[in-house]
Amino acid sequence: MSIGDKLKILKISLEDGAEAAAKKSQSLVEYSELSISMASCKKKIDEVYLKIGERIYRDFKEGDLNISNIREILEYCTEINELERELKKLKKKMLKLKNKKECRSCGRLIEKKAQYCDRCGCKQ
Ligand SMILES: [Zn+2]
Repeated sequence: MSIGDKLKILKISLEDGAEAAAKKSQSLVEYSELSISMASCKKKIDEVYLKIGERIYRDFKEGDLNISNIREILEYCTEINELERELKKLKKKMLKLKNKKECRSCGRLIEKKAQYCDRCGCKQ
């Protein structure tokens, strides 16, 4: 092999390496963005839980805990439902990024290509 050919091969492998590194850093960025979004979503859900608890306790304290106040609680519950949906979407993206899936039976994270769960043995 001539020096020219060797240099060509070296150039190609360097380019491949750079491309792989770029892809890796891109997915790291995506991963951290997703992690932040998921954490913020979970935090919002906790805040709504807190609002529900505070609302119920306030009504109780004021001797006004009755069914007519449930409308506000239902709105909070709807808000949580929406946040849960968003969280589910984010989780799905995260799994795709990690090349994993959840076991359909026990929920364990397993390789996307796995045909059986390595915890419960369920066929996927
Ligand atoms: Zn399983």
